[in-house]
Order: sequence, then C-alpha cells, then structure tokens
Amino acid sequence: MAVHGKVYLVGAGPGDPGLLTVKGLRCLQQADLVLYDGLVNPLLLRLTSAQVERTSRIKSATDRVAGQDEINRRLIEAASAGKTVVRLKGGDPFIFGRGSEEAAALAAANIDFEVVPGVTAAVAAGEYSGLSFTHRDYSSAVAFVTGHEDPTKEHPALDYAAIARFPGTLVFYMGLHRLEPLVDALLRGGKPATTPACVVSSATNPSQRTIAAPLGQLAEAVRAADLHPPSIIVVGECVSRRETIAWFEKRPLFGRRIGITRPVAQAGPMIDRVLQLGAEPVLLPTIQILPPDDWQPIDETLARLEEFDWLVFTSVNGVDAFMGRLWDSGGDARRLGTVRIAAIGPATGESLRRFGLRPDLMPRAFRAESLAEELRPHVAGKRVLWARADRGRDVLPDELANAGALVEQLIVYRNVDATSLPQAELSRLEQGELDWIALGSPSIVQSLQTLCTQAALGQLGGRTRLASISPVTTARAREIGLPIAAEATDYTWDGLLDAILRAESVE
Ligand code: SAH
Repeated sequence: MAVHGKVYLVGAGPGDPGLLTVKGLRCLQQADLVLYDGLVNPLLLRLTSAQVERTSRIKSATDRVAGQDEINRRLIEAASAGKTVVRLKGGDPFIFGRGSEEAAALAAANIDFEVVPGVTAAVAAGEYSGLSFTHRDYSSAVAFVTGHEDPTKEHPALDYAAIARFPGTLVFYMGLHRLEPLVDALLRGGKPATTPACVVSSATNPSQRTIAAPLGQLAEAVRAADLHPPSIIVVGECVSRRETIAWFEKRPLFGRRIGITRPVAQAGPMIDRVLQLGAEPVLLPTIQILPPDDWQPIDETLARLEEFDWLVFTSVNGVDAFMGRLWDSGGDARRLGTVRIAAIGPATGESLRRFGLRPDLMPRAFRAESLAEELRPHVAGKRVLWARADRGRDVLPDELANAGALVEQLIVYRNVDATSLPQAELSRLEQGELDWIALGSPSIVQSLQTLCTQAALGQLGGRTRLASISPVTTARAREIGLPIAAEATDYTWDGLLDAILRAESVE
C-alpha cells in the first residue's frame, strides 16, 4: 500500500512566538519537514524536531514565479514520499500569503492537506500597539488592503477613490515602500489630511515601533523615524485612542536585546522569560552539552548504587544524564533505594522532581561552597557519589574529602566549548546591537572570549553590558578583563534576569 503524506499550511503568527495556535504547535511537533518563509520567527523552529528549510527570498517578479513553483513542487514531492510536511507562513497563510495558491496546487496533485489559520499581522499589530479597529465610537468596518500595487500606474487594480470613501478603518499590508503615493492617492480620493494614521513596524516583536501622525504628515514622520519592513499602515479615527491602551511597549525590558549563552536545548525557559519581559533573546550558545565519551563507568556505577549514602547533583544536565541512563538501561527511581540526595539549587531540584525525586538537602546559597558546607555534618565516613560534567570546579570533592567523606566522581556528561557562534548573531554583536549578554558560568565566560572576534570583543562591557550569574563567574570575567555590570543575588538564570532588570530600573 502506498504511504500517504500530508501537508499542513500553518499560520505562524506575526512574530511573537506565543501567538502560534495550539493546532499549529501540534503540526510542528508531528512534522518530518518544515518549509518556512522569511517572516517566520526562527524561535518557532525550536518547537519541532523536523528537518527545517527556509524558502528562498522573493527578489524580482521572475524569481517570485520560480520561487513559488519550486515551493509547490517541494511540498508535493515530500508529501508523495510519505512525509508530514508543515508549510509555515508568517501571519495567516491566506491573508496576502499565497497559501491559497499552495492549497490549490496540492489539491490538483491529489495531496491531502489542511489549513491552520494564524494571527494575521494587522490584527496583532492593532492589539500590540493599542489600536481597536472596530471601536464602536469610531468605526464599524475594517478593510485589509494591499499596498503592494503602485497607485500611480495607469490602470490600478484598486479603486483608490472608493477606498478613500470606505466607512471604516483602513489597514494596508506591504505598503511601506509606497507610503507616499499611497497617501497621495487617498488624499486625492477625498480622505481628509487630518485623519489619524500610523505605521506599526515589526509588530509583536521586541523591535516593534509605532509612529503616528495625521495622514497628510505620515510619510514625512515615517521617513524621519527610519522605519523598516515589515510594517502595516493604519488609517482611521481609532488611531487617536492608541495612547490609552498601548501596553506592549511598556514592558520592563521592552526592545532590549539579550544574548543568551546557554546551549539552545536548555535555553527554553530563559527565552520565554526574556520574551515576557519584552526583550529579544539572541541565541549565542557558547557551550554544548554532549554525552560522555564512555558509558561503561556509568553503567558500572549504576549497578552498585546501594553502596552510596549520598548522591550529589550540581546541574540539571547531571540529573538528566544520570537518571536518563538509569531509565534507558532498564531501571527506574527505585534503584536509588535509600540513598540521600543533594541538589545545588532550585533548577536542579526541579529536574529531580520530574523524575519523582525530592532532594534531602539543598543549600541556601546555590554554590558549591555552600553545598559542601551544608553537607559537611552528614558525610563523615560516608560514601558520596557526585554526578558531574567532565569539567568544572573541584571545590566540592576537596571540601567533602576534608570532611571525611569518601567521594567518587562520575562524569555523566561533557561540557564542551562550541566551535563557533552563529554567524548572524555574531555580526549583530559586532555591530553593537546587543544590550546585554547573560553569562551563566566561568566556562561560558571563557568560551565566549575565545569565540568572539576582535570586533565583538570590542563591544563586550561597553555597548553590550555583561551580566553574571554568580561571584565566581564575575571573578572569572574580571580576570580576563571583562567588566560585569550586573550580578545575580540568586545564582540562577532567573536571578540573572532579575539582576538585568534591577540594573535597567536604576537608570
Ligand atoms: N500572511 C501574512 C502577510 C504576508 S504579506 C499575514 O497574515 O500577516 C507581508 C506583509 O505583512 C508585510 O509587508 C507587512 O505589511 C505585514 N506584516 C507581516 N508581519 C508583520 C509584522 N510583524 N509587523 C507589521 N507588519 C507585518
């Protein structure tokens, strides 16, 4: 029997990754292949384990035809080969999105498909910049209009006089590069020059900007503000109410760009919190977490767990690797028997919880010295197993040995420097676009310094401020000449963001 694939045409929403629908998320989780367009926020690609491909940029009229045909062909080919394919498109797939053409091509080729709507740019831009298009005092209709057409051409497809008379809010897509002729056409059609209007650029992203001016002065105001695509243009009385409900641009770290140095697989919660604060996460993974070179010592140790009195975890990765191997080798939490468990801090504690385990000991301050100090009274003559990375500080075994413990160290994962930083993000750093970089450990500091170009190093501590997770990390940074502008009081990634918030709020 032939295997049948399927294509989902999915709206990715306008930028904020939180605006993907639940159905869209399910499609991404099930996909084998994701073809996404240039408007899609790449952070959404973290939600899929599929192969991902960006479709080519549309440059010229001829390119566009070739591009679209090629995309259709690719969708049909992959689905015919039995794959589940997601065609991920910015905003909504049909609203100025050519999704309907893709659907038609799939239907013609007899390919099974579904369409998953997305939050279209106009709607999101309205809400994220405080515009109610259908506020009952001002407007009982709204029109989505393409601004792509040149209104000065001889037979425009759009009747601009009719659009100017439209009794409601006008929202133009794709019109920024033709703002001036567009405004002229509306004025010629009889729209008063005093009509409130605005342009919302990069709506729902931390780089969102809104420039409002009466229609007659809009083009000039937008030029002065140097706005860039993607932008939508809104014309109508509702713009006059904007200041009363604008909320998005008031968030505490709005518009800040924060470099996140964690390995991407572990950066999820940090990315979410950065977005919630209104800032843009810029992924600069300086280290990679890899499996150990050799599982044998781990398997041997797992076979004699009953010999230990204490099991010590100092990272989420340590818990995941240790418990993951225990599970994969056919065991479960019961194998831990009566061993007591220590965790260095809340994140490590939380990861134990996911395995149904509760730490017996967690120090008040989340650092190796405090962990050692609090373990000290319990470990004289006891056997302690520390599940650790292949590198890191040796404070813990030294201190515990001093307290009379018999410490065994088990390397359960490797913490390796990345070989390079992603090019696009690195050049943003070089150009001084980043406001902060969050440093999560001494090894991250070290690795960042090695991976940065001269131009990038020149920004560190200057235009781009550095925030450190703990005094140990700060000390390492200072040793190599990198000034720290904020230090966490809670030595966690959340604490690191709190330190950035504090530093920003005293300014
Ligand atoms: N299918 C998309 C629209 C694609 S056409 C949707 O439903 O939103 C591309 C146009 O959408 C851009 O020229 C711009 O006018 C608008 N657009 C897309 N994302 C935007 C954003 N984040 N902010 C403002 N406008 C956006």
